[in-house]
Amino acid sequence: MLYSHSEMKLDDLDLRELFTFDPSGGVMRFAGDRALIMDTVALGLLRRTLIDAVGADGARGILTRFGYAHGHRTATTLKNAFPWDSPEEWRLAGGRLHKLQGLVVPAPVTSTLVSGPAPFVESLWHDSYEAEQHLIHVGRSQEPVCWTQCGFASGYLSYVNQREIFCLEVRCRGRGDAVCHMVGRPREDWSEELAPQLAYFDMTGLDETLDEITRKLRQAEKQLRSRRQQLAAYRADADEDRNVTAKSPAMAEVVALAERVAKVDSTVLITGESGVGKERVAHLIHERSARAPRALVAVNCGALPENLLESELFGHVKGSFTGATQDRPGLFEEASGGTLFLDEIGEVSPALQVRLLRALQEHEVRRVGENTNRHVDVRVIAATNRNLAEEVAAGRFREDLYYRLRVVEIAVPPLRERREDILPLARILLASAARKTKCKVTSFTPAAVEQLQRYAWPGNVRELENAIERAAVMGSGSRIDVDDLPSEVGSASASSWTAGDKRTLADVERDYIQAVLKANDGNRAKAAAQLSIAPATLYRKLASYRGKRTSR
Ligand code: ZN
Repeated sequence: MLYSHSEMKLDDLDLRELFTFDPSGGVMRFAGDRALIMDTVALGLLRRTLIDAVGADGARGILTRFGYAHGHRTATTLKNAFPWDSPEEWRLAGGRLHKLQGLVVPAPVTSTLVSGPAPFVESLWHDSYEAEQHLIHVGRSQEPVCWTQCGFASGYLSYVNQREIFCLEVRCRGRGDAVCHMVGRPREDWSEELAPQLAYFDMTGLDETLDEITRKLRQAEKQLRSRRQQLAAYRADADEDRNVTAKSPAMAEVVALAERVAKVDSTVLITGESGVGKERVAHLIHERSARAPRALVAVNCGALPENLLESELFGHVKGSFTGATQDRPGLFEEASGGTLFLDEIGEVSPALQVRLLRALQEHEVRRVGENTNRHVDVRVIAATNRNLAEEVAAGRFREDLYYRLRVVEIAVPPLRERREDILPLARILLASAARKTKCKVTSFTPAAVEQLQRYAWPGNVRELENAIERAAVMGSGSRIDVDDLPSEVGSASASSWTAGDKRTLADVERDYIQAVLKANDGNRAKAAAQLSIAPATLYRKLASYRGKRTSR
């Protein structure tokens, strides 16, 4: 305990309960308030910068008041965060918290060094981070230097005791003492010698500022909450991570283009092989656009027969066909104000192509069986794995619709042409598979990583996702190994590289030689025999690779 020597039951205050975070990243919270992990050196640098900018006295005033405000706020937060057994428990929690946050290692004072009236509180601080940082960045001081911590203790104690308590150090490691020694008293109990130091606590206006900050924080939290609810409601598929992984230059270009396109309302055509993540790009565009608060409605045009797709897209009136038992709006109307994503647009029949073209040109739709037009305000994003230009040339796709859709074209490259993305994607997919299947697999063995990067992934991200989900379920250890991967991935050899991976002939030769060497357990004689080259040739080639970038 910090501020008392008596035995107090504060063991319930546990760091693991106070500190909440998501291991995969995101907002961390301490006792319900948003927290950051910041190393002490960063705070030391801030101290140094303050001293350079406003002098030691100015810096001390700022850091004291900063600490005071922090302690004051912590007291109000903690008061509401727990069902305290007694007000006394809550009053003493500040010291415990000071320790939990790693600021100091407090210890009771065995024999007091101070004269005058008995202190309100008194404590030793071992390993004060603040003294440590002061010594590193500024050097030894003539005065005590644990300004933030004295401020924190004062702010906390003043709030919980509903009277002003000022904490000062009578010893400090920052000025060469063996330990920091904090004493807290009401103003009138401080000796004339130390009373001038209370000026650093000058609180004019601070309470109002604190109230204002608290009010604004509450407001921000409220807005965040409602925004999150909105997002959850609008996302048809909320458990999917919509982030588009773009470590590769090719994919970074796609994301940059998508973000630019998001700002305008043009129709977008997304092309790329099956499974490359065209729908994710569509979501990215929608979420970065002014239409984000409204829905993105997605439909797979290849999955429905022509007449069903027509009534799905445009709606119908009661009795317009068998089974149309009531009026129904179509997806164009449903997506009004938002985005309509037409996947596999290349599968749409010629008759429907005409209707789509009209809807895009006139911004109007007509329900099946109805004679009136309805205005729709929809941004259309279409996607296809076909080469639409070839479809147009072959007469299977309308040229006018093609150009109407392709105002902006975004071509998503296949996974084998952006190998830098494989591992980051694999990690994201593994984390999400682990969540979904509640298994404890957290990473890949080096051999598994090698196979993941070596395999050509003809089914792209979708195939990778399936492979990893399967491996997460099949795997026995905490890491996915080669044996857990589908056999075609686990056995992929250098020869499975395709012409798409943009490697020079020398690169491919080097990678192949290294793969053969590895397959022969590093035995160069055997590797040379398999390669049908002289051992000396192999030695020479291996020597020339040394020092150069290794493959992948
Ligand atoms: Zn100190």
